Amino acid sequence: MPLTFLLLAAFTAAILSLSFSNLKTLIMDIRAARSHDESQKVLADVQRQISTLGGEVLILVHTGPGIIPAYADQARSYAVKLQNLLGSFPNLHITVKPVSEYTGGQAFQTRRTFYLGNVYGGLLPKAFVDDVLQDAPVTWIGHNLWQLPSDALLPLGISAVQNLPLPTSFDRVEYRNHAFKRPGRLDISEVKLSDKASVRVHAWAHDHQGRRLPYVAQLKRLWYFADIPLEEPGETDRYLVLADLLGDMLGQKRSCVPRALVRMEDIQPNESAAVLRRAIGLLEREHIPFSATVIPEFRAPGRRVSWESRPELLAELRRMQRLGARIFQHGYTHQYEVQANPKGISGYDYEFWDARTDAPLSGLTASAARERLELGKTILQDLGIRPVGWVTPHYAAPAELYEVFAQAYPIAYERRTYRTGSVTFEQFFPYPVRDVLGTYILPENMDQVETPASLQHMLEVARANRALQCPWVSFFFHPYQLSPDYQGEHKVTERQFTAFMRQLSQLGFRFVDPFKSASDTSP
Ligand SMILES: [Zn+2]
Repeated sequence: MPLTFLLLAAFTAAILSLSFSNLKTLIMDIRAARSHDESQKVLADVQRQISTLGGEVLILVHTGPGIIPAYADQARSYAVKLQNLLGSFPNLHITVKPVSEYTGGQAFQTRRTFYLGNVYGGLLPKAFVDDVLQDAPVTWIGHNLWQLPSDALLPLGISAVQNLPLPTSFDRVEYRNHAFKRPGRLDISEVKLSDKASVRVHAWAHDHQGRRLPYVAQLKRLWYFADIPLEEPGETDRYLVLADLLGDMLGQKRSCVPRALVRMEDIQPNESAAVLRRAIGLLEREHIPFSATVIPEFRAPGRRVSWESRPELLAELRRMQRLGARIFQHGYTHQYEVQANPKGISGYDYEFWDARTDAPLSGLTASAARERLELGKTILQDLGIRPVGWVTPHYAAPAELYEVFAQAYPIAYERRTYRTGSVTFEQFFPYPVRDVLGTYILPENMDQVETPASLQHMLEVARANRALQCPWVSFFFHPYQLSPDYQGEHKVTERQFTAFMRQLSQLGFRFVDPFKSASDTSP
């Protein structure tokens, strides 16, 4: 659409509802939205704040000939999860390859080499074993350390490695004075330490009989994890321990001010202006920077509502942006065509996933998905709204479509789905990362405010993250939940909500703008 047309449309809308000074702001907003892609600009700002680390990283996995395909796919999924977490560190050059292709001396040329031992008894090349025993910078995750000759392990401080019969009784990991709990049991190996003075145990696995075993041990340059924390990562479990120690292992120890992010979800043209105004007012009063996901167009069976048709509401959306809220595009209609998916209502329905068959939507090709995204983006930009990134409706889409989203938006704020062969998995991040698709992803690691009871779980997640060296917590809520007129099952009173946010502050978390705090870390 030409700018003159936009200005005309804006002017028409403006004389109906806005004062002259608001009109001027509106025109400036439209020009700003049109003159650059906000997402690229914000990302460039963030990158300027991050220091250079760099270096080679090698991830060795059990794939290749002789490995059962399902195990190989699982190994690749762990490698992707690890690569994503390593994406929190700048300028690393990461290579993933089968351990069977390892050649002597390689690990010495890396900043660090990670071995993922998910195949019990998987073959290890002698060259790799020799380099580990020669104290190459290697992190050993999971099985198979027992394959190394025990007399050769002695100089590293280990007298024996033994697998524990399943199910083990170990279900929590103590790290930095916090118990990282796991609903299931840990499939761990026991390392017996011969020389406790030279070994540093960073974390211990515990059971209910009072027994403890080294969970993360540092033996000179070899780091050892007693299981694979990348297997089914939990919000409060030892996945966080691995994520937190990556900096130590890479030689870039981090320590940060604990940061909190909050996001208003599903802001759409059918929203009540009063409800949105109230939610914005609450965060404003508490001086809390926030983000919002915005749906460009509302649909329901037989109904269509545009932002232009709701001037009072639109004014609130624009006010939010002027206050500094970061806006994320949240689909196009947050439902799919005329299908009931499951109800046909924006915000409730899925847009990129079939809710009824729990499978990709038939007919939704990559180009159709791209078109939906672009239609929505244009609507927002024409309103003078500058989306800085993307949030997938219900976090649900086939892995392939994330490539489409990644091309359109270099920034996202969500949990993401990936696929490696037969394995499809979702991953959340405890801090911002640049993922394998190259997208800068802001963390969402506490989930959403569901009920007053969910706030207790979220505080549990906050306490687990608070124990880390560079803690982030991030959650979202829906403005209607706080409305005095709403009495449904997701009701949370303003008082409960404010108390929750204050509890996060008391834990030491500071609410921040997600892009202004990237440099707020001391190496
Ligand atoms: Zn949504």
